[in-house]
Amino acid sequence: MRRLKRPLIVVANRLPVSRGPDGWEASAGGLVTALRPVIEEVGGAWIGYDDDPDEVPARVDGLACELHPVSLSEEQFHGYYHGFANRTLWPLFHDLVVEPVIDRRWWQSYVEVNRRFGEVLARVVKETDGEPVLWIQDYHLMMLPGIARGLVPEAPIGFFLHIPFPPPELVARLPWRDQLLQGLLAADAIGFHTRQYRDNFVRSVQRLFSGVTALGDKLILPDGRQVRAVAHPISIDVDEFSELAVSDATNQEMEELSEQFAGRTVFLGVDRLDYTKGIRHRLQSIELLLERRPELRGQLAFVQIAVPSRDDVKEYRELRTEVETEVGRINGRFTEPGHDVPVHYLYRGVPRESLAAYYRLADVMCVTPLKDGMNLVAKEFVTVQAAAEGAGVLLLSEFCGTAQEFGDDAVRTNPFDVEGQSYLMESALELDHLERAARMRRMAGSVRDADVYRWVSDELAGIEPGSRGP
Ligand code: UDP
Repeated sequence: MRRLKRPLIVVANRLPVSRGPDGWEASAGGLVTALRPVIEEVGGAWIGYDDDPDEVPARVDGLACELHPVSLSEEQFHGYYHGFANRTLWPLFHDLVVEPVIDRRWWQSYVEVNRRFGEVLARVVKETDGEPVLWIQDYHLMMLPGIARGLVPEAPIGFFLHIPFPPPELVARLPWRDQLLQGLLAADAIGFHTRQYRDNFVRSVQRLFSGVTALGDKLILPDGRQVRAVAHPISIDVDEFSELAVSDATNQEMEELSEQFAGRTVFLGVDRLDYTKGIRHRLQSIELLLERRPELRGQLAFVQIAVPSRDDVKEYRELRTEVETEVGRINGRFTEPGHDVPVHYLYRGVPRESLAAYYRLADVMCVTPLKDGMNLVAKEFVTVQAAAEGAGVLLLSEFCGTAQEFGDDAVRTNPFDVEGQSYLMESALELDHLERAARMRRMAGSVRDADVYRWVSDELAGIEPGSRGP
């Protein structure tokens, strides 16, 4: 693991803490876990929004970093987060799965809020001993590298985009495309999940601004400044998931689920309830499969865990209604009186041990997003299955970042082709057991080779000072 010699300041939309039953605690999640050893060694700070900034403690147990909440008015947060980030950038960057809304007031809030983060950042830099490295996260803060460069010109700045970067033709639709890309280009290093997103970014920059040269992983700007644009796929903590896979609590959950689903072939979906995840298309494929193969009706169970998400955004509320209508229709069509329903729909998150048990239980894991920057569920599934010596099949959309890493060991699907996907679901059931197990081991091996620690290490190594200037 690469160790920084300078303190690290992470800036993200949210702070890495939440209020638990016993008070504030560090949030679970790959980024926090992976950064913990780095921050412990060099010290650091985390800047992020909280709706109750006065309550946020300066530190929490188990996370050796200072917490700096950014306070925003309700109106600012609405325009920046619910508006520009989630109704303009999110759909635009996910290939227009729904139509992005263009609203000037939201853009103003976005810029205003990015400035507000900049003010807090400048203050924290001033208070920090030593010369810190700044690492800015995600599409909520794309203007911040530029703002930070103005306020703390000497600081090394890295930026990582956790969602896809779309092709230039889509970027072109954004009235503020020039400002947004200029904002990013003020960083020293900009990270993307895949080569394809990175290349989309480079092509967009070259289309919008003249005199930019791409040389290896560097962009040389007209003033001679160099910016690195790199592909670093995010991942999971493999040891943590491998241990979780066979923990006592997971074994216990697994026993209960195995009893409940005894004799049935289990298809599984685990997603935030988001229109990018292809849940409706997946349900339609299941419906076609059950229509075509009546003998599967009592045999096949499809479990969909749908984690509530962004339910204050109209498109997400509409999606929930559509998904629930679809589930109701399938169960109405194919349930036999006195027998279990074919679709088990859970509108909630589940505890980690349950999640691991579901991953173990699944004969076919359906990760079929219409577009997804990476998709960690796929990586968690193969890790848990391999640790428990499972031989499930991964049905994986070709439109997510993870697909680039698993090659043909996953069954690759085009989720837009609902009927074709239903045939793939059928063929997944016919794969030979030894072949499935071998594929699973290979996929888990590739996740282990590039886990979340490697991601952090590659990212931080890339934010090197001294790459500025002609
Ligand atoms: N997840 C969770 N609770 C659940 C189901 C899933 O915390 O009940 C987690 C899951 O373990 C994974 C994350 O949510 O780490 C989803 O990440 P992914 O990259 O697949 O999709 P995203 O939600 O970031 O678009």
